[in-house]
Amino acid sequence: MSHMKLRQGIIDTCLEMNHSGLNQGTSGNVSHRIPGGMLITPTSLPYAQMKPADIVAMDFDGTYHGRRLPSSEWRFHRDILKSRTDANVVLHTHSVYCTTLATHELGIPSFHYMVAVAGGTDIRCSDYACFGTQELSDTALKALEDRTACLLGHHGLIVLADTFEKALWRAHEVETLAKMYVHALAIGEPPRLSDAEMAQVIEQMRRMSYGQTPDLDSVADRPHAAKEIRASSKPAAKTTARTKAKLKARPKVKARR
Ligand SMILES: [Zn+2]
Repeated sequence: MSHMKLRQGIIDTCLEMNHSGLNQGTSGNVSHRIPGGMLITPTSLPYAQMKPADIVAMDFDGTYHGRRLPSSEWRFHRDILKSRTDANVVLHTHSVYCTTLATHELGIPSFHYMVAVAGGTDIRCSDYACFGTQELSDTALKALEDRTACLLGHHGLIVLADTFEKALWRAHEVETLAKMYVHALAIGEPPRLSDAEMAQVIEQMRRMSYGQTPDLDSVADRPHAAKEIRASSKPAAKTTARTKAKLKARPKVKARR
């Protein structure tokens, strides 16, 4: 059996998705690129029972090899990996808060700077299409344009990454953002960061290799680099007119000790 490490990586990623609460049951699925195709989770097999030989190898033409049937969502995994050469891993889950927003056909706007972890100024929600169909694959690809995550209307979440670890990290970040956005909406629609402010965040993340743990650690270990981070994360010297107006409009809340 080839690609033993990647097969085990898919199983470990699925187990971690359920262990961390990112997924329930066998609704999620994971794939990893191999030359000419992908490895993907089989359909309807509890992750705890999954063995490396259960992982299905599939060519990009849809031919599959192995003792199991591929996940019913193999089409979007195949189409994403075929067209998005920047990604090696596709992770799909029905995580609760992302799916909550997706049931309202809501994406995640630039209400928080971390939205940039998906590569742009927002995280889109695709149109609804029935699971397992080519329509779903097409609408997902559209929502993922220039992004590494999207919500699926009335369905769930897809994230792309170059490694399993990064895919899990990104999925957790997006789920956390979705949770924050749902909470923020309870107070009212939160104001959004402008395109210019988001462009600055994206540039800052790119400069700091944000989300790549080894690089972040090595940056933090270097005193001069740490100083640079502190300097660049200082609040702007001038409070903007917009912020001033908002601060004025809000009732003062005493800080609790
Ligand atoms: Zn699904």
